[in-house]
Amino acid sequence: MIVVVTGGAGFIGSHLSEALLAAGAIVHVIDNLSSGYRANIPSGAVLHETDIRSPEARSLIAGIRPEAVYHLAAQADVQRSLADPAEDASVNVKGTLNMLKASSEAGVRKFVFASTSAVYGNVAKDVVSEREKAEPMSFYGLSKRTAEQYIRIYSHLYGLDYTILRYGNVYGPRQTPKGEGGVVAVFLDRLRRAVPPTVHGDGEQTRDFVYVKDIVAANLAAFARGARETLNVGTGRATSVNELLRLLEQCRGAPIACRHAPARAGDIRHSRLDPRRARRVLRWESVYDTAAGIAETYASTLPSSR
Ligand code: NAD
Repeated sequence: MIVVVTGGAGFIGSHLSEALLAAGAIVHVIDNLSSGYRANIPSGAVLHETDIRSPEARSLIAGIRPEAVYHLAAQADVQRSLADPAEDASVNVKGTLNMLKASSEAGVRKFVFASTSAVYGNVAKDVVSEREKAEPMSFYGLSKRTAEQYIRIYSHLYGLDYTILRYGNVYGPRQTPKGEGGVVAVFLDRLRRAVPPTVHGDGEQTRDFVYVKDIVAANLAAFARGARETLNVGTGRATSVNELLRLLEQCRGAPIACRHAPARAGDIRHSRLDPRRARRVLRWESVYDTAAGIAETYASTLPSSR
């Protein structure tokens, strides 16, 4: 099988590329290295260093004729989307459109899209299912939501099959402190630099932290299943920031001194995704509990600190 992974030099895309290679696929990565790194790309994958908005990226897909396009390349930083909404929209909407056009023209069998729980915005309920109205609260959430709509209409008009995966807060090795929801990466970066991590508010706010290998497994399952579906990919469990710190302390074998800062305005108190539809449709389930995922992440980030 020949596949294209856009954003394959990034955190999640590099793990996905690795898994696809291990499954025997020929992997072409399209990435402009704006937030990803050449060193992240597993050996065996072919890097095409170009922008997803470019005619060159379209010609590449026409030439490669992949069976699947995993579209992960994005402007994935919420704060940057607020500072420069036009660039966020350009990458996430125009870039996705360019990839859709190329995929449709090349006869791609499946377009798998990396969406986000940020499309839901500030939902009053603490468990969010796909039926919840998507009312994004950031330009990043809006550009991802808009890209989803383009995918659906594109599919309706031109017959391109797709699966949209709405990820929870993903964490794991190679995540940088930038990007979406990377509190685990932020804490680990602080620990590496011997700077106390900052906890906003009382630390009892919760999120659905999902390990990157579970996200990869959902992407692999989406090649054959989930036709024209939009699915939450999370654990369904709520983990608080304090609980994360406790798990990191276990890995470190010593207490972690924190700074406390006021809660951030607009921060959601509790959020977790309802993953039941993905379980049924993809026959996928998150298999990493938070302790196991954090332990692997810690070991890869701070290997010699014990
Ligand atoms: P990342 O920043 O590590 O990876 C994004 C990759 O896309 C980078 O390698 C970057 O160089 C590339 N890229 C960006 N703009 C590009 C462009 N114009 N042309 C070509 N390549 C470009 O981010 P990540 O955390 O690995 O996120 C991957 C995907 O998953 C994104 O679509 C993101 O929105 C989505 N997502 C991430 C999370 C999370 O918690 N990390 C949660 C939900 C959704």
